[in-house]
Amino acid sequence: MATVTFNEIAIHGMKSVKCAGGCRRTLKRSRKFYQTLSPFNKNAAGELKSRDQIWDELQAERRAWLAEPEICKHCTQPRKDGEG
Ligand SMILES: [Zn+2]
Repeated sequence: MATVTFNEIAIHGMKSVKCAGGCRRTLKRSRKFYQTLSPFNKNAAGELKSRDQIWDELQAERRAWLAEPEICKHCTQPRKDGEG
């Protein structure tokens, strides 16, 4: 008996960027972008998304994510007044 699984289409993104908070740390981030090729995954027109379409969307998501600035936890924490 075969096991039916929805086809998952995934790509991995990795980036190594300077902290946007100004501390000069280099931050490494990795993230998985995925969608399933299934009868429930439809586009805006109500059509089933094709593998190519999903792939294009994932690439676009990854590009947007790569362009996002990253701030380390040291810079996102509110600074105490007074001492440096
Ligand atoms: Zn920082």
